[in-house]
Amino acid sequence: MIIGAGAAGLMCAAKAGARGRRVLVLDHANKAGKKILMSGGGHCNFTNLYTEPANFLSQNPHFCKSALARYTQWDFIALVNKHAVPHHEKKLGQLFCDGKSMDILQMLLAECEAVGARVRLDTTVEKIERIETAQDGGEGAGGAQGGQGGYLLQTTSGPVRCTSLVIATGGLSIPTMGATGFGYEVARQFGHQVLPTRAGLVPFTITDQLKELCTELSGTSVDGLVSCNGKSFRENILFTHRGLSGPAILQISSYWLPGQAVEINLLPDRCVPDWLAEQRRDRPNAELKTLLGEVFTKKMAQLLCEQWFVSKPIKQYAHAELENIATRLSEWQVVPAGTEGYRTAEVTLGGVDTREVSSKTMESLKAPGLYFIGEVLDVSGHLGGFNFQWAWASGNAAAQFV
Ligand SMILES: Cc1cc2nc3c(=O)[nH]c(=O)nc-3n(C[C@H](O)[C@H](O)[C@H](O)COP(=O)(O)OP(=O)(O)OC[C@H]3O[C@@H](n4cnc5c(N)ncnc54)[C@H](O)[C@@H]3O)c2cc1C
Repeated sequence: MIIGAGAAGLMCAAKAGARGRRVLVLDHANKAGKKILMSGGGHCNFTNLYTEPANFLSQNPHFCKSALARYTQWDFIALVNKHAVPHHEKKLGQLFCDGKSMDILQMLLAECEAVGARVRLDTTVEKIERIETAQDGGEGAGGAQGGQGGYLLQTTSGPVRCTSLVIATGGLSIPTMGATGFGYEVARQFGHQVLPTRAGLVPFTITDQLKELCTELSGTSVDGLVSCNGKSFRENILFTHRGLSGPAILQISSYWLPGQAVEINLLPDRCVPDWLAEQRRDRPNAELKTLLGEVFTKKMAQLLCEQWFVSKPIKQYAHAELENIATRLSEWQVVPAGTEGYRTAEVTLGGVDTREVSSKTMESLKAPGLYFIGEVLDVSGHLGGFNFQWAWASGNAAAQFV
């Protein structure tokens, strides 16, 4: 029995079914894989060519290694190729569907159907009990035989019993898509620690004097290097009405803690002090606004000169002033007011403590026959297809043992 017909749950169902297990997937939503459908801007960034353990955050960084090694990006690409799903590398190893995300969902559902794994939607699990010996008392999944023990679930479509129960209910992000804290509640019920959760891969909100700059530049994107807590990401930064977004910001948001500053280098390809000194020497009469207009959009240059600097011919700046300008452009310190939270976050950081789960089987070390896979665990990937790769890999790992 698998609770959650998302990325990890469907992969686990298909793989367990392929081993000859009798599988039932339950989901409270009216559709399977809603997050798959909305992922990657509708084109599902389903894996990353360069997946490695360093792309994941967890309090137990070694946990993900075994599952990722046993089901790699190449395994998923082979599956995608078997189903002739057209795809391409967008950038940085990120593989997207040429068509819609639906291609990936249909592929997973076809894999489930081929092995007889059933998916039952619109079903809420009301109660879970551990049973020492499987008894009559409901429809079975997993071929529970008397004497094996297992779990008895009370659901809105009747009682169900199983020998293995897989929790694949994901994280808290995008509650409107069916996300709940159900997996964490089950974990606690069976004595597991749940590490504090927070939104990851999420835009920053800005409320101080920078708000006006962000609002004025809303829609403008710049290439930048963003750093916080010893991590840096070079990617686009997008100004929004609420603050800052874009891939570089989403990536660093997973490392940021409230109250901390994020450092942004707006000109990561240049040594800004040297560049300003050269301009001063070669074009002494050029105004700062003109020079900035050559490296940023005209609007951004104009706004920076209105809000941060006074624009004048570059020869008129004292050395200390140029140093200040260079520092502002290459070591801009931003203290976000917060993040947009679970409403727009792509992942949930934290979750079921992996120190109480087997990295080989995904089985609970507290309750035999109970498994946790996917985002419900304290494993979160960087932006770029890594979260799905974790869902596929952890789903596959559990499927070999359920
Ligand atoms: C907008 C957006 C875009 C994203 N794009 C990408 C991307 O392109 N690439 C990438 O790698 N990652 C992406 N992600 C992250 C990725 O979607 C998740 O990490 C991944 O779906 C996690 O898989 P999962 O199976 O653990 O959980 P989910 O896919 O979230 O599935 C959980 C399932 O459990 C069900 N469920 C929850 N609570 C209950 C309950 N109480 N009872 C029954 N069922 C329940 C839900 O309805 C859902 O079907 C994106 C996320 C978002 C929000």
